[in-house]
Amino acid sequence: MPNMSFVIPSFLILVILLVYYFSRRRLSVRINRTFVQLLAMESMGLFFDLVSSILQANFSSVPMAVHYLVNILYYSLFAARIFLFYLFTVNLLQVDIFSRPASILVHSFIFIITEISILLSVRTGAVFYIENETYLLGKDYNILYGCFLFYVALSFLLLLLNVDRLKRYQTVSVIAYNTVLLIGNIVHFIVPQYLVMNTFCLMALIIIYLTFENPDLFSSDRGPSFNARAFRFSLDEVDATKDYRILGFVLRNYADEREIYGYNQMDQGITLISQYLDRLCPNQTIFYLRNGCFTILGDHTMDWEKIQNEINTRFQMPWSANEADLFLNIIFARISSESGDTDSETIINRLITAFNEGSRRIGTMESLIDLDKIHEVDHQKDVKRALDIAIENDAVEIFLQPLIECASGRMTGAEVLARIRNEEGRIIPPGVFIEIAEQNGQINRLGSQVFEKACRFISEGKLDQCGLKWLNVNLSPIQCMKKDLAIQFRTVLDRYHVSPDQIHLEITEASMIDLTILEKQIQSLRSSGFQFALDDYGTGYSNLTRVKHYPFINIKLDMEVVWDYYRERDTLLPALVQAFKNLNLTITAEGIETREMGEALAAIGCDYLQGYYFSMPLPTDEFVKKYSKASA
Ligand code: C2E
Ligand code: MG
Ligand code: MG
Repeated sequence: MPNMSFVIPSFLILVILLVYYFSRRRLSVRINRTFVQLLAMESMGLFFDLVSSILQANFSSVPMAVHYLVNILYYSLFAARIFLFYLFTVNLLQVDIFSRPASILVHSFIFIITEISILLSVRTGAVFYIENETYLLGKDYNILYGCFLFYVALSFLLLLLNVDRLKRYQTVSVIAYNTVLLIGNIVHFIVPQYLVMNTFCLMALIIIYLTFENPDLFSSDRGPSFNARAFRFSLDEVDATKDYRILGFVLRNYADEREIYGYNQMDQGITLISQYLDRLCPNQTIFYLRNGCFTILGDHTMDWEKIQNEINTRFQMPWSANEADLFLNIIFARISSESGDTDSETIINRLITAFNEGSRRIGTMESLIDLDKIHEVDHQKDVKRALDIAIENDAVEIFLQPLIECASGRMTGAEVLARIRNEEGRIIPPGVFIEIAEQNGQINRLGSQVFEKACRFISEGKLDQCGLKWLNVNLSPIQCMKKDLAIQFRTVLDRYHVSPDQIHLEITEASMIDLTILEKQIQSLRSSGFQFALDDYGTGYSNLTRVKHYPFINIKLDMEVVWDYYRERDTLLPALVQAFKNLNLTITAEGIETREMGEALAAIGCDYLQGYYFSMPLPTDEFVKKYSKASA
């Protein structure tokens, strides 16, 4: 007859643990789920200890099948429990054993074999058998100890290999609970009639609870939300599933508000916000990360737009804390798996940067921080470096894109487009570096290089070789402000023996802000023989009178305008084109991507077409290779 003296006290301690654990809000992460399973196993283990003792005492009054069933469950749970302890260690150490079927099989092989042996014992009597109204141990009973030892040993091995993932006290705890299990196993081996295994498992569970599982470790002390540690844990899991959406917000100017309203009021306000979010987002997890920062974690089904609007509306009203009404202002940040960040460190760093940035932005109407812009800060540094290197080494490259004359269907000109390369030699497009170059004044040197390289191209006879009449070179508004631009260009033209009518300068409407300087500039460039095209027409605010005032020969319709017209035909663009033509201006349509688009724009009177349909911008040597033959 087994000795029950350990079972009853263990049962009482387990009840306390269960009540404590389940009365708190729990974070749904893998190690917590494994812990819940362990608690369930422990409860069942104790239950079946009791049941089997009672059944043995009343053997004849219970059908044989029930005896077998109880025995199977008792032994199965024994093996399952050690396997679960092992899985707990695996999850704790973040060892990925679940992603490949082969790996799952290797790790669970011994467990499966043990479970099968237990099941087969009904026929073979290998692990247990029933004889003379008594439960007896089979000749292969030791397989249970083997299974136990195997998984405890494996846990120690994993710990050894991944010890750097845990803090010291956590490592000690893992060693402790596995040692307790080991001792329990030995004691059980020596005195199997004492039902001690459950008690040792319970001790191991208490060690785990105290170090890793106490729900208070994860909960924020302000309302029903979880804390920063819980956020990190959750992100580590998100990491593996790669499906997350995080909507975060920060109270603007948090530190000052705390001073103004008082600490107690502010803490109460935070609690109220936590409670509100908890009601608003029952399917998501809410975290309060301190310093006025909240995050809501969900998956791709989370309607963050709607949640953001609701929160925004709520923040229009005060939060009534104690005697004060708190009027709080927030700014949001969003991040999702689509942005490509999958490791928790990066996600947290980006959010923290956004929150720091956001809490400082006082007095702006902006309600959402663009995380990509923040991400770009690093990226911008790379671009700046590449720009410096390209300019210093005279390595700004020019690419050419054909301009097709509608009347003849032939290429008569080409636009010169600047390119630089990053350290790996990959092209950085001008959309990225022109703005930076304009901000730090390098655009002048960059523009000079582009102009000089265009002149060199012409002087080498390549313009004629490709059957071109001219090249279009872009001028930045900043360049237009440079007093000696005309002289500088003139010098280069002379050096390369290039005639100015072979170069058309493209300026955008942005150049037309300071009209007096622009007028002077255009005059002096005109007197040097250059001609002008107005680039990206339709993106700014030019009216016809203004355009008429300047000596443009060509208007380039911005591709947005072109695409708009192509998507939805109206009479506006044809009328505008006609008006320009009446002023003796030629028209170029940019962004032609299909034959139909080209035809539609030619049909309303455009004289030139430019776009990917004809050619992408090409490096000069490729351009020459492609077009010198064609024109030959
Ligand atoms: P942009 O002057 O309007 O040049 C046309 C832009 O449209 C080019 O972009 C070209 O590659 C792109 N494009 C041409 N056809 C198509 C098409 O069919 N579909 C689409 N989606 N795009 C098309 P890129 O080369 O990236 O240049 C962007 C802008 O950078 C230029 O716009 C120009 O404003 C500026 N830029 C380029 N090179 C220089 C330069 O040397 N100096 C200055 N100041 N600005 C430059
Ligand atoms: Mg242009
Ligand atoms: Mg353009």
